[in-house]
Amino acid sequence: MDRPRVSRILSDGQPGEPVEISGWVRTRRDSKDGFSFVELNDGSCMANLQLVIDSSVPGYAETIKNVTTGSSIKITGEIKESPGKKQRVEVHASTLELIGTADVESYPLQKKRHSFEFLREIAHLRPRTNTFGAIARVRNAASAAIHNFFQERGFLYVHTPVITTSDCEGAGEMFQVTTLLHDDKPPKSLDYTEDFFGKRASLTVSGQLEAEIYATSVGECYTFGPTFRAENSNTTRHLAEFWMIEPEMPFYELPQNMQLAEDFVRSVIKMVLEKCPDDMQFFNDRIDKTVLETLKNITENEFLRVSYTDAIEILEQSGKKWEYPVSWGQDLQSEHERFLTEQHFKQPIILFDYPRTIKPFYMRCNDDNKTVRAMDVLVPRIGEIIGGSQREERYDVLLDRMKEQDLNPDEYWWYLELRKFGSVPHSGFGLGFERLILLLTGMQNIRDVIPFPRTPKNAEF
Ligand code: ATP
Ligand code: MN
Repeated sequence: MDRPRVSRILSDGQPGEPVEISGWVRTRRDSKDGFSFVELNDGSCMANLQLVIDSSVPGYAETIKNVTTGSSIKITGEIKESPGKKQRVEVHASTLELIGTADVESYPLQKKRHSFEFLREIAHLRPRTNTFGAIARVRNAASAAIHNFFQERGFLYVHTPVITTSDCEGAGEMFQVTTLLHDDKPPKSLDYTEDFFGKRASLTVSGQLEAEIYATSVGECYTFGPTFRAENSNTTRHLAEFWMIEPEMPFYELPQNMQLAEDFVRSVIKMVLEKCPDDMQFFNDRIDKTVLETLKNITENEFLRVSYTDAIEILEQSGKKWEYPVSWGQDLQSEHERFLTEQHFKQPIILFDYPRTIKPFYMRCNDDNKTVRAMDVLVPRIGEIIGGSQREERYDVLLDRMKEQDLNPDEYWWYLELRKFGSVPHSGFGLGFERLILLLTGMQNIRDVIPFPRTPKNAEF
């Protein structure tokens, strides 16, 4: 039988129903008339369950003083209509069991507002707060929505490896995986043929190349897994370990890829709004008053398609002073992306056809020889949330691009072979899951939307 949860009692518990419930105490208030009110939370929903514990309950006198904030208890009792305005029902206890105490002096989560910085230091307790409980539920709903979206469309979920010997972005921002280093064997010059995998290995920065293998065999597919980047950028939008969703579709060219990305973002937002109305209301009330409005703007507006070249012109003519100067051929920075989506267009946009010199080797070259079929989806408050492209399916062009970017074609022999045997146009994109959660919750810092963030100098918990 399912363990009874607070969410169930609050949503459809009926007066007169007997219940047993366990959870963690948020607050206790003793009335002068010989009973106590306890606010119980078990993480199943935002709201607490109000318990009324009368002094006639067995053991009340000895136990109740230890029913403090953070302690865990179990009660049996009966659901009653609540006379209070804050809740429909409450539970009147007939038994009370203290399961785990929480010392009042040392329990860090006393009933006051704590800063997110402080809460990061107690990541083992922060999911007990309203904010982090809500984030956990929204992450869960968003994951389910993502799987739903693709499953309904017949995409296969493919599990791509975490350990890899190829560097997809050619960026070198990779964490190395090795068994060559031991305390008793100082690293002089590492001989990778002696290493565990017989060559230099790393944690993956993207599952795309492997997803392409499956897309060009079994059809539309997607990955959803952990991704690692050793970028030493201490920003509020970058993690060293994050989750990425990477769909890959055969026979899709850039326009279909853009359409899928647009449908995907809108549909996932809608599903989360439907699944977590209370949590979303909480984010709007307490975290950022514009969250729901921003999400509405995204679900109700078509995403505008704007070429990189047009975007540069808009930025140059904006009269703005940029921290990073704008010119054709330079990558866009977050300040430029946010200006375009938040101030200029005031809606989500998809930029496409970027200069080939700033984009990876696998993006399909356009006939102008200057641009590639890349696309970035930009949304208000975040900037880039999705990066994608049509992939280069022509063997010779791909080979040239690898050489152009100083990559060793031998290491990508299998990727090249896909262009030799039944090559087809195909496309895909990557969505950073935590960027999506930032967008959904209105939280400011990406460290606060993943349970245990990994960032430079920080991998506690
Ligand atoms: P940015 O310019 O913001 O660093 P990127 O161009 O490096 O992003 P891609 O390589 O296109 O990003 O990765 C695809 C998606 O993964 C991005 O659109 C973003 O949502 C997400 N992403 C990239 N790097 C990180 C990171 N360090 N932490 C969290 N999410 C990330
Ligand atoms: Mn990056």
